[in-house]
Amino acid sequence: MEKNTIYKDIALKKYNSWKVGGIAEKLYICGDKDLLSEGINHKRITPPFTFIGLGSNLLIRDGGVKGTVIILHGGLSEINLENNLFYAEAGVSCSKLAKYIARNHYKHSAFLAGIPGTIGGALAMNAGCYGSETWDFVEKVLVINEKGEQFKRTKNDYITQYRKVINKKKLDEYFLATWMQFPKGIKEEAEKDIKLLLKERKESQPLNWPTAGSTFRNPPNNFAAKLIEECGLKGYTIGGAQISKKHANFIINLGDASASDIEKLIDYTIKKVLEITKICLETEIKIIGEY
Ligand SMILES: Cc1cc2nc3c(=O)[nH]c(=O)nc-3n(C[C@H](O)[C@H](O)[C@H](O)COP(=O)(O)OP(=O)(O)OC[C@H]3O[C@@H](n4cnc5c(N)ncnc54)[C@H](O)[C@@H]3O)c2cc1C
Repeated sequence: MEKNTIYKDIALKKYNSWKVGGIAEKLYICGDKDLLSEGINHKRITPPFTFIGLGSNLLIRDGGVKGTVIILHGGLSEINLENNLFYAEAGVSCSKLAKYIARNHYKHSAFLAGIPGTIGGALAMNAGCYGSETWDFVEKVLVINEKGEQFKRTKNDYITQYRKVINKKKLDEYFLATWMQFPKGIKEEAEKDIKLLLKERKESQPLNWPTAGSTFRNPPNNFAAKLIEECGLKGYTIGGAQISKKHANFIINLGDASASDIEKLIDYTIKKVLEITKICLETEIKIIGEY
């Protein structure tokens, strides 16, 4: 598909890691930030907007998405290092940025290597693992609003929490790029850290199946996976959706799951865990679209 072009009625299955969901009323693959601004400004690209990176934290319902879905991966892909700051556009994959940082003799990027999303998604979710989170390293971001205007914001403009980022002024804006700072390190050691993390993930996560990673947020002082496992739900299946036998916080698509199968399994898990443990799980994944 051509970049910077609006398409109608496009199946969204290939734009999310669960491989489910209906169609986008309109879909725009963004290849240039200024053309995106111009398109919104001239009302060629019309709201409501749904920004998608790699769709690795998304459940798109079977009824599809109204308005314009804006895809950033494959389009906004610039990456560079200037004055000790790593600049990455929102469509760059986290693993590509992690490797770029290590290659340039900086450390602590390994946590990003295991996140199968884009930098835009990581900024929106404050994605993290192994004790590090995206916003720990952010200096500035470039954002766009619903009118197509672009602004630079600093870390101070946001409240960042576990898998949550709130604009202090409650502005509806989307991330186009970021400038991040990492400590200096040794290339070989940084690359070794990445390899080690990827190996650990392969051993503990069902990476051969379509999944969106951790379905539920960890409750305070607890682990969603542990609670789900203790409730005997590992392997529980609804339609084509199954609670992974390898990692209880992962729901996998066995091949022919619908978004509705996955959502029913999510609701069932919340109900059962609440019944048995009195703890109410909250989803980490974002659910969008029409039933
Ligand atoms: C196997 C597996 C392992 C995972 N492990 C981890 C992990 O260790 N830690 C972790 O935190 N997550 C993990 N995830 C979840 C996911 O990869 C992260 O949340 C990631 O940051 C999502 O990025 P994305 O580009 O796929 O975002 P998407 O799924 O496309 O979008 C997620 C949300 O962010 C919004 N969004 C996307 N791009 C933008 C943008 N540019 N501006 C504003 N909003 C935007 C979307 O609208 C949506 O609400 C894992 C997922 C999988 C499948």
